[in-house]
Formats: sequence, C-alpha cells, structure tokens
Amino acid sequence: MKGICILGATGSIGVSTLDVVARHPDLYKVVALTANGNIDVLFQQCLVHHPEYAVVASEHRADEFRQRIAASTVADIKVLSGSEALQQVATLDTVDSVMAAIVGAAGLLPTLAAAKAGKTILLANKEALVMSGQIFLKAVKDSGAVLLPIDSEHNAIFQCMPAGYATGQQARQARRILLTASGGPFRRTPVEELINVTPEQAIAHPKWDMGRKISVDSATMMNKGLELIEACLLFNMQPDDIQVVIHPQSIIHSMVDYVDGSVLAQMGNPDMRTPIAYAMAWPERFDSGVAPLNIFEVGRMDFEQPDLQRFPCLKLAYQAIKSGGVMPTILNAANEVAVEAFLAEQIRFTDIAKIIEQSMAQFSAEQADTLEAVLQADQQARDIAKTVITHLAV
Ligand code: NDP
Repeated sequence: MKGICILGATGSIGVSTLDVVARHPDLYKVVALTANGNIDVLFQQCLVHHPEYAVVASEHRADEFRQRIAASTVADIKVLSGSEALQQVATLDTVDSVMAAIVGAAGLLPTLAAAKAGKTILLANKEALVMSGQIFLKAVKDSGAVLLPIDSEHNAIFQCMPAGYATGQQARQARRILLTASGGPFRRTPVEELINVTPEQAIAHPKWDMGRKISVDSATMMNKGLELIEACLLFNMQPDDIQVVIHPQSIIHSMVDYVDGSVLAQMGNPDMRTPIAYAMAWPERFDSGVAPLNIFEVGRMDFEQPDLQRFPCLKLAYQAIKSGGVMPTILNAANEVAVEAFLAEQIRFTDIAKIIEQSMAQFSAEQADTLEAVLQADQQARDIAKTVITHLAV
C-alpha cells in the first residue's frame, strides 16, 4: 500500500488522479490533498477520500474550510494552510508518491521539497522543471528520488525508452524525439484573425479537457515550447534533436527514433488517466478507466510541421533552451504573467508572444546555479512582463 499526496487535487490532473486512485484502494491510500482556494471541491474530495491532511494554500479561505471539516463526518482530517504547508505534506513520512499537479511556478517549492525528500514524483507541473532545470534534476539524483513524467508526451517518450531507463539519463541509441502536438484550436485560423481571439475561444481545446492556463498555452503552442524544454531536461537531449510534430488527432502521444531506423510510438485515447495510471503503477501497469482505442474510428493520422510564424511562442522556447542559463525561467515567468493578463482580458491573444519576447530581450543567459537565483530571476521577469503590459493598450 502506497501513500499518495496530490498537490493541486482540485484541478484537472488532480481530479483525474483521484479517479485512478479510487480504482485501486488496495494499492493507494490518499494521505494529503491540496488546493489553492477551491474549498468546495476540496471538501467533497475529503468526504470521499478521507485523507489524513488537507491543505488550503490560500489563507483567506482556510478558516471557512476548517469550520466545514470540523462540522463534518471527516472531522479528524488535519487542515493546514499557507504555501509552506504544501512542502510539509509533500515530505511526510507516510507519503511515498507525490502527484505534482499545481499549475505554474507555485508548484516549484513543494515539488522540489518532495524531490529532496526522495519521494516518487509524478510530474505534471512542467513549469517547476522548466524554471529550475538542473537544480531540480540534481535534487532528484542526490536523494535517490524517482521522477516519472505525467505530461502525456513525456510519459509516451518514457514508455518508448529502453528497458531500465531512468529520467535524466541519455537514452542508449535514441537519436531523435518526435514530440507530438495537437496544434490547438487555431491551427487553421487565418493568422490575421488571431488578434481577435477571446479567452473563451482559447480555452476550448479540440482534444483535451484541461485547466485554463495550460489550455491557453496549448492555443499559443507555448505548452509545446515548455514541453520541448521539459523533454531536453528529462531525456538529456539537445533541442535540435527534438522535432515538434503537429498531429491533430492526438492518438500518438510522441515517438522515439532509434539509430537502426526504428521509430517507437505510444498511442491511446487522449485521456490523462492513461499516463497517470502508468506512472502510478510503474514498473507494472493497471486499469486506468480509459476506453480501449478504436483504431477504426481513428481511421487516419496526419502529421505536419509547426508554423513558427503562426506560433511565435514555440520559436521563443527554442531560443530560451538554446540560450540556456536563466532564459527558460524568464520565458516561463513572462508567459505566466501574460496568460493571466490575457485571461483577465487586459491584453490580446497575440500580445502574449510579444510580452515574452520583450521580457526575454532584457536578460542575458546568465547561469542560475542556486534556487535563490532562480526565484530572483523569476520575480524580475514577472516585474518586467508587467511593465511591458502597461505599455500595451487593448
Ligand atoms: P488546473 O488549473 O485545472 O488546476 C490547478 C491546481 O493547482 C488546482 O488544484 C489549484 O487549486 C492549484 N493551484 C493553483 N494555484 C495555486 C497556488 N498558488 N498554490 C497552490 N495551489 C495552487 O490545472 P491542470 O490540472 O490543468 O494542470 C496542472 C499542471 O499539470 C500544470 O502544470 C499543467 O501544465 C500540467 N499538465 C496538465 C495537463 C492536463 O491535461 N490538464 C496535461 C499535462 C500537464 P484551486 O482549484 O483551489 O485553484
């Protein structure tokens, strides 16, 4: 029986994880669930899964949540609040696996704490790895933690790796990764119309049902940019050895090209419960609740090169990882600020890339060898991105 802590339990990945956990009560016990401020969903999850701990990261909703738990049938749940409590539950002795599913930079410290504590990390929170890069990988290595990717593409690549492969290693005889992308909702929209895209249109993803931030990232293809950086780190590959492939059907979740000409692909219905279940059962497999793939219904699969004019964010991500140093941290921070401003209708869809580009232009690719340096660069980039936004009028 393994104990699991789900960071970001109330989000899209958190909910899918609990769905998988509920199928395997003999193998997994929920030790801790965390949310930011969505106490309604967290409360329902507590009633069903009865964790030892529940964390409300946002202090202003914590008291109300405490009162609700105290008056409930699960009054023995320990309620913690504030961002430090996230680290506390991610490192509990009773926790074996940590699902890192907080969105954005807020997930870095608890995920890093879990890495330092030698936990099995099921990594959905790609921003944490993109921001901290080698610092994160070193923490995993030093503590003997296990790092398993949840992003469907990276999970697919991991599944196509040679037997005995561990993340961070260079894969024997693998010469290229083909990183698939759906292309998002605007793959065919005339480029001149992108300026008028609304948040509602941007978050309506054709294939995946996801949180708002990653849905906007998919629409700009910054999600693929962050995944490119994530893949370079997880699989120890150079950016030029990773080819982004638009595959609108989202049935192949990525491929690995070997020196003998073999190309291994992992396929399945686009449902995050497959990579979640794979990582939870690893190195075995168990039921995820995902329907079997009907290959006849799929019928055909298409593949296209991404258009970097249409998707400048992808180009910026290639630039950031090639420049190295703090650039991926800057890219990520500026993107988070820009996406938030877009969702708040303060900027246009096409401004997102401009804000990131202008923010990156203010930095050189200095190394950031410490966590403090990473956090400082992250904060500086956020401040600069906000200044750039004030100079843009909607
Ligand atoms: P959601 O927006 O659906 O959920 C985010 C979760 O993080 C919620 O539980 C939210 O709590 C919590 N959260 C947000 N801000 C904070 C904060 N400041 N402190 C603590 N907790 C916080 O996101 P997704 O589930 O879609 O994505 C989560 C991560 O997984 C992202 O990094 C994303 O890139 C990655 N991912 C997601 C995929 C998907 O299919 N959704 C696929 C692959 C990767 P609350 O509900 O209380 O606000």
